[in-house]
Amino acid sequence: MRTLLAFTLVLGLAGAAAAQPLGANQPTGAGANQTKALEFAGGRIHQAVGFGNTFMVTTRAGDVIIDTSLPMNAKRHHALLRAVSTAPIRDIILTHSHGDHTGGVPIWKESGTKVIEQANSVAFRNYQARLEGFFAIRNAAQYNVPVGALGAGQRAANAYPGNYAAPRLADVLFDKEYKFKLGDLTFDCLSMPGETPDMLNVWIPELKALFIGDNYYASFPNMYTLRGTPPRPALNYVESIDKVLALKPEIVLPSHGTPIIGAANVQRVLTQYRDAILYVHDATVRGMDEGKEVYTLMKEIKLPPQLYVGESYGAISWSVRGIYDGYAGWFDGDPATMYATAPSESDAELVKIAGGATPVAARAQALVATDPALALRLTSAALAAEPNNLAALAARKQALDKLLAASKNSNESGWLHAGLSRVAAAQK
Ligand SMILES: [Zn+2]
Repeated sequence: MRTLLAFTLVLGLAGAAAAQPLGANQPTGAGANQTKALEFAGGRIHQAVGFGNTFMVTTRAGDVIIDTSLPMNAKRHHALLRAVSTAPIRDIILTHSHGDHTGGVPIWKESGTKVIEQANSVAFRNYQARLEGFFAIRNAAQYNVPVGALGAGQRAANAYPGNYAAPRLADVLFDKEYKFKLGDLTFDCLSMPGETPDMLNVWIPELKALFIGDNYYASFPNMYTLRGTPPRPALNYVESIDKVLALKPEIVLPSHGTPIIGAANVQRVLTQYRDAILYVHDATVRGMDEGKEVYTLMKEIKLPPQLYVGESYGAISWSVRGIYDGYAGWFDGDPATMYATAPSESDAELVKIAGGATPVAARAQALVATDPALALRLTSAALAAEPNNLAALAARKQALDKLLAASKNSNESGWLHAGLSRVAAAQK
């Protein structure tokens, strides 16, 4: 997740080992009240909680940091973890190159510290840098914060034309596996594509501990994130989680949320998670092969109760569409879609025939109680015809409010808030 998780919840974890799952979504405020690093694996693994956790593993030959959280959390995390040990930081391992994992590198890096990443991080960070302006706008909406509030970008000043290089962080890049020994512990860094193509997991066999990055959190994964993403192939997650299961960890530490503790518990939780992903993938593929359109499948596909893993961050319907579009791209088979005529243009024509935006807004208002998503669509059409129509703006606000009241998903809430802000600006 760069993908910052829920901003809406305000949870703080104080003191030692909290057993309560936080849900997928630690808000940026998560851990703000933490006074002591959490401790796992007999006191060898320490966790600072945040929107993006920071982990420190202590060895006789120095310490290793796994993920570094957002820039805004890094000082706090550094203080919490340095209260446990002040040994040299020998390595920083980044599970992937989203900003909520890489933000604290400058604070942690000492002379002699090596930063370790999977090799796809170079291309992935360049991609993020290339689209920095786009993501600044999208992230601000998704996380309901002002544009620019999530930290400075990384794009080179001479970004155009053709130069999209982001600053390089890694001292060590590897393809499939990078294994090293430090003191009495082995750090086995394994390529595990899932949420990103550069995802790596860290396996410490002596502790039977596995750091899973963002390939698991306590919600259905965000296989399509609304701020925009290239496909996050479902089968990548499945293959990577299978590799984790085969290692038989006794503790799995995600970079968002709380660890899964106990060998049997790990097998149970990750098997269910993998099977949930596979279920949604296979149902989507079956529907595609049967010639069903994406909206039908978004409505139809539901997880059976024994596989339901929650949707506080990722949502099944977005994942269905993500899988569909990931395999097929944007064309829906309607010849009308081949042309640059926008749906809003034909909507505006239909609204005119219906007597203008005001009667369409009245119909939208009537639908708010029973189908607020359809009501919202109608207000989009009404406003395509008459962007400042007050009745349409009022109906749109009602539809957004209704959807927001029902939403249990932090990304959905973020975009509904963004929609409400636009309505409020248009009403002024
Ligand atoms: Zn993340």
